[in-house]
Amino acid sequence: MDEVKKWHQEKVLLRVVEALKKRDFNAEYFNTINELNDYLLKSIPTGTSIGIGGSMTIRELGIIERFEERGNKIIHHWQKGLSEETDKEIRKKEMLADYYLTSANAITKNGDIINIDGIGNRIAAMIYGPDNVFIIAGYNKIVPSIHDGIKRSKEIAAVMNAKRVSAKTPCVNTGMCVDCNVKGRICRVISIIQFRPLQTNITVLLVNETLGF
Ligand code: SF4
Repeated sequence: MDEVKKWHQEKVLLRVVEALKKRDFNAEYFNTINELNDYLLKSIPTGTSIGIGGSMTIRELGIIERFEERGNKIIHHWQKGLSEETDKEIRKKEMLADYYLTSANAITKNGDIINIDGIGNRIAAMIYGPDNVFIIAGYNKIVPSIHDGIKRSKEIAAVMNAKRVSAKTPCVNTGMCVDCNVKGRICRVISIIQFRPLQTNITVLLVNETLGF
């Protein structure tokens, strides 16, 4: 059964790759995380700087350590004990890195890339900042429409992210998005990237796995 499931997911992901190419993105399909990681290690030159967006997917790849080991400069704000000032400084530096790695909250079958941020640094960096952006997503991020993508971003990704950061939001108690209006709300900026922004080289890498939120 697993084989059939994988086969079906591959067919869907390959169609999304074609849809993304029609939207002027670079796009590639990978069967496994290992193949994806090899591609990333080949595509990003040693010695360059890499900003990492707040992304569970990227952490699950286990690629950050490999880049560090071979001498890439990793800039990321997911570090314990940072002061608010240092955290902000690092987020800004991520936006000036040579490369930027992140995921997306959802990608539609037509090639729309959807995200919801609380601060907006990830969305900003994807659109304008680093010259080269890699967006990595598992099959679980694929949705039929923009409406479904926004729904997924809020009802799945944001609720889990709120839990991860112990946000003071109703969804952390109920596990459900109620489109809250509280000070701790983490859903503040929605972006739909419909075509590749003109001055950013965006490559979307789809992998036949379940990754991130
Ligand atoms: S309840 Fe608020 S913070 Fe939680 S997912 Fe919904 S809008 Fe976002």
